[in-house]
Amino acid sequence: MIKKDIFLNTQFLGSFPSHEGLPEDIGSEIAFCGRSNSGKSSVINALTNNKKMAKTSKTPGRTQSINAFSLGDRLDLRLIDLPGYGYAKVSKAMRSEWGDVISKYLNSRKSLKGLVLIMDIRHPFKDSDQMLIDWCEETATPFLVLLNKSDKLSRNKINLSLNEANKRLENCKNPFHLLPFSAANRSGTEQAGFILENFLGT
Ligand code: GDP
Repeated sequence: MIKKDIFLNTQFLGSFPSHEGLPEDIGSEIAFCGRSNSGKSSVINALTNNKKMAKTSKTPGRTQSINAFSLGDRLDLRLIDLPGYGYAKVSKAMRSEWGDVISKYLNSRKSLKGLVLIMDIRHPFKDSDQMLIDWCEETATPFLVLLNKSDKLSRNKINLSLNEANKRLENCKNPFHLLPFSAANRSGTEQAGFILENFLGT
């Protein structure tokens, strides 16, 4: 049993160019995925209540690595920040290398217990996002979809986006969760925290 505020004690373990250098594949980990600019870093910062946890930098060189964090001193409980995809300003070759890093990670980690897919609520379900959902479906990996930047929309529009997203996911056989989220005003952080704890089995 871990305390609910365990995400507030998150520690940076390091940046790794591929899954190969990551901490030992034991215990449980959750991976965060999303297109660049979806707000993935900001979401991690909001969940851990630390503005510097995942640096919100736009430097392609940095964002292509895998960042690993432990929950407090529990090295067996980890958050994994995967490279953002769909970055428009890099070459095709580099984009495919990032895809390679992500798919090799997903297909090799036994401790991966759930995936968090972050999408901009105004531009959801791009092809690469859908590919990740399909992967979760194929591998029966539980996932949480965060429709981030909900502060940009009215309550009404948020509900419309939620309905559309639910329709999009209605054929999923796999357990999934869907939440409007705002890293900017931290709405959704508590619910997301509960879901992630559940994924981690804590
Ligand atoms: P990443 O590339 O996916 O890691 O995205 P970042 O976390 O760096 O965020 C991209 C941009 O979106 C930055 O300018 C953030 O300040 C902004 N952003 C992220 N989350 C939110 C949010 O919930 N609301 C608003 N309004 N802006 C956000």
